[in-house]
Amino acid sequence: MECVFCKIIEGIIPSEKVYEDENCVIIKDIEPIAPIHYLMIPKKHYAYLEEASVSEAMELSFMLNKIGQLKDELGLGNGYRLIINQGDDAGQTVKHLHIHILAGKKLNWEV
Ligand code: 5GP
Ligand code: ZN
Repeated sequence: MECVFCKIIEGIIPSEKVYEDENCVIIKDIEPIAPIHYLMIPKKHYAYLEEASVSEAMELSFMLNKIGQLKDELGLGNGYRLIINQGDDAGQTVKHLHIHILAGKKLNWEV
């Protein structure tokens, strides 16, 4: 198993977990780029949106809804941004799909 996020999910690599259910985990990013920077990671390994099975795509939709349900608990109440980097031009470094959750300040908007 070469994937760093699979290792985190297996508990082989330690992480600061803030949420877990049967489908996903939310951990703190090791190199935060905002005061709050979480990663929501599906437990099933796939790198790209188009690789998700129907059930994985449905799980992804439930994961998005879960972020909204957890927003106060996670300190996202003033607003938050979700980012899914896909591929090299987006700077995806870990080829296990994940949702960046950024919050904790007024986020600027530049690419
Ligand atoms: P990507 O660039 O693929 O969209 O995002 C990968 C993210 O994973 C980066 O923000 C990086 O800081 C984070 N990351 C990489 N390795 C680890 C790790 O071992 N633990 C944690 N908590 N985050 C990691
Ligand atoms: Zn993986």
